[in-house]
Amino acid sequence: MKLDTKAIRYLTPEDWRVLTAVEMGSKNHEIVPTPIIAQISGTRSGVHRCISALAKVGLIAKVKNAKYDGYRLTYGGLDYLALNTHRKSSTIFSLGNQIGVGKESDIYVVASDTGSRLVLKIHRLGRISFRTVKANRDYLRNRASGSWMYLSRLAAMKEYAFMQVLRREGFPVPEPVGQSRHTVVMEFIDSFPLRQIDSVPNPAKLYAELMELIVRLARVGLIHGDFNEFNILIKEERVASGKKKAAPKEASEPQQESEDAPKADPSIKLTPILIDFPQMLSTTHTNAAFYFDRDVACVKRFFLRRFKYESDEPGPFFADAIKGSDLTKRLDVEVEATGFSRKMAKELEKYIEAVGIDNEQEGELGEQDEEVEYEDDENEEDDEVENDEEAEDHDIEQEEIPEDPQVDDPKLA
Ligand code: ADP
Ligand code: MG
Repeated sequence: MKLDTKAIRYLTPEDWRVLTAVEMGSKNHEIVPTPIIAQISGTRSGVHRCISALAKVGLIAKVKNAKYDGYRLTYGGLDYLALNTHRKSSTIFSLGNQIGVGKESDIYVVASDTGSRLVLKIHRLGRISFRTVKANRDYLRNRASGSWMYLSRLAAMKEYAFMQVLRREGFPVPEPVGQSRHTVVMEFIDSFPLRQIDSVPNPAKLYAELMELIVRLARVGLIHGDFNEFNILIKEERVASGKKKAAPKEASEPQQESEDAPKADPSIKLTPILIDFPQMLSTTHTNAAFYFDRDVACVKRFFLRRFKYESDEPGPFFADAIKGSDLTKRLDVEVEATGFSRKMAKELEKYIEAVGIDNEQEGELGEQDEEVEYEDDENEEDDEVENDEEAEDHDIEQEEIPEDPQVDDPKLA
């Protein structure tokens, strides 16, 4: 599923209200009945026209059900709603190239209103290769599309919440800029993933920095959980002049293997920046030691394979790391208090455990082997909509419907 913003400029304010209504109705209905869409949107007379328009461009899809027909939001619809929110909050002005396809995310370069380069990460949980997943196939397959969207929202919320506290505490992570639904906007790091770096002037130094980062995280109650060469971006700076090294030619496409990837040059300072936080976990997790050791082992393995470097020192060990904990600073506890609740964490964790982590495929551009049916492609949409019955009273949590956007604004198109 690709982000396709062609239709965004043609949507009328009513279309946006109806799209928002389908999203709101989805909280209580897997398939949102038309009368409910009309009721929430408050656009009774024009609702059928809007529904047709939205279904035609694939932002909602008609679903026939034994009891009633109705509509559900598609990933495309969710993308539009998120982009619209970022646009209205002046977070995103224009959309640039896609720079990454993670296993379960799409990464775009975007520009802010002030022209700075940012990254838009769109979470797409459920889009994984199931070839490697033996257990839990059914758990994964039998989910409705709405539940994937819900999990994707949780992933984005969690990622953003962690980035905020990590950044505040001075950890080397991109600055978080905004979050809406299943998306996170953050600072663009002009860098290469460690995975693309063939040699470094001082592997021992970089290794020590990374291990120190793992230990520092544990001291504030956190384990990254996927601390590997794909999720460590290496920023390079010239030491002598204090100036940044000229950007490599492919700087806007750090995913692609490039001949310009940094070579060992002692005058260049390498700074590791950590990304990708949806699987982050607390040091109080039952299997915390296992995940901590796995993060450490990932770095060890990579340094041995790539740089032929092996540290003389054993560890670091989980028990030692948490001995040095700062009891006044528990970021795991803090994040839980910010709205990303324990219940949400559990739901997301169940999914992450079912899927497991498969480093080999992550971060590679390329086709996925086997995808979960997102259903967005099955076009059940047709223009004829049944007569509205009088909308019953449903206990729908009324949320503020966003103001009408400037739909004639082509910036995001
Ligand atoms: P996933 O969860 O799918 O693994 P990541 O957050 O790890 O997604 O991002 C995938 C890739 O996108 C990274 O390996 C990196 O190349 C690129 N990327 C992600 N965030 C940034 C950023 N803030 N700046 C520059 N590149 C980024
Ligand atoms: Mg990643």
